[in-house]
Amino acid sequence: MRVVIALGGNALLRRQERPDASVQLANVRAAVAALAPLADRHELVITHGNGPQVGVLALESAADRSLSSPYPFDVLGAETQGMIGYWLLQSLQNALPERQVCALLNQTLVSAADPAFAEPEKFVGPVYERAEAERLAAERGWTVKQDGSHWRRVVASPRPQRVVETRLIRLLLDSGAVAVCAGGGGVPVIRDDQGRLVGVEAVVDKDLTAALLAEALDADALLLLTDVPHVEREYGTPYAAPIGHTTPAQLRAQHFPAGSMGPKVDAVCRFVELTGGMAAIGALEDAQAILDGATGTLVTPNGRPRADSAPRTQELT
Ligand code: ADP
Ligand code: MG
Repeated sequence: MRVVIALGGNALLRRQERPDASVQLANVRAAVAALAPLADRHELVITHGNGPQVGVLALESAADRSLSSPYPFDVLGAETQGMIGYWLLQSLQNALPERQVCALLNQTLVSAADPAFAEPEKFVGPVYERAEAERLAAERGWTVKQDGSHWRRVVASPRPQRVVETRLIRLLLDSGAVAVCAGGGGVPVIRDDQGRLVGVEAVVDKDLTAALLAEALDADALLLLTDVPHVEREYGTPYAAPIGHTTPAQLRAQHFPAGSMGPKVDAVCRFVELTGGMAAIGALEDAQAILDGATGTLVTPNGRPRADSAPRTQELT
């Protein structure tokens, strides 16, 4: 199978962890240990989030007094693709010495007319207490919103329309390479009135880009790996329960938060609706088990595992 895998930025840098290079490299190595076994049986496209990382770089840039203005988000996005892409590239090369691995810088086309530019809602950077967040918002012109029990900065997250280098990624896959690409959802760009590419101040949701890429590459499966083992219904309430096998229609009937699970659910539903393939959301360390149909939230057109993935253990009895 051709499998597109998206790694959560929050799984590569957990919410309370220091953003040290050593911490992230250790997390990347653990992620690669979970993914490398899949490369024996499948063509792999690996993309990754960058929410926590881009937030760190944004803070550094804002604090750099030698700059007359902080680096814009397209540039910060490219920096995170380089940084996380490098860690993934090296870890994958070490884990898969027989394979060619590439890490690409990618741009993602968005529409200049996207309503997200007027209503920013994508969380970036560290969490703050409310008063601190409000002070920073006033001081730096940020928009801040509540994320669980804390507060975070938000930026515009327009819908991805196309990964500019899609054909190149396909060539690399066809030649047998493992492709790390479209990190952080890709660097957001628009076309100007001359048809030229120009970067914009935004971040693209990596889950939506992963779905777009999976469609464009004719992938068989889309795997969104994050820091929770399942999507839960009635999340955060005493009635919360994991969702196992499901359909796009069943998922779409429920509400999920816009800054976190919402885009993942949207992405998996879209992919399954458009391609009839299989998509899943689950924990990074469960990658293989999710593809085998043994855990995670698995979305297929009819809510049953595909013929080429093993049935769940409880269904064997
Ligand atoms: P990533 O960096 O992987 O994109 P996100 O923070 O964007 O991670 O999304 C995963 C988070 O979504 C989980 O850690 C959890 O806190 C949150 N979440 C929100 N709604 C749900 C839900 N219904 N089921 C499970 N997790 C949920
Ligand atoms: Mg996310």
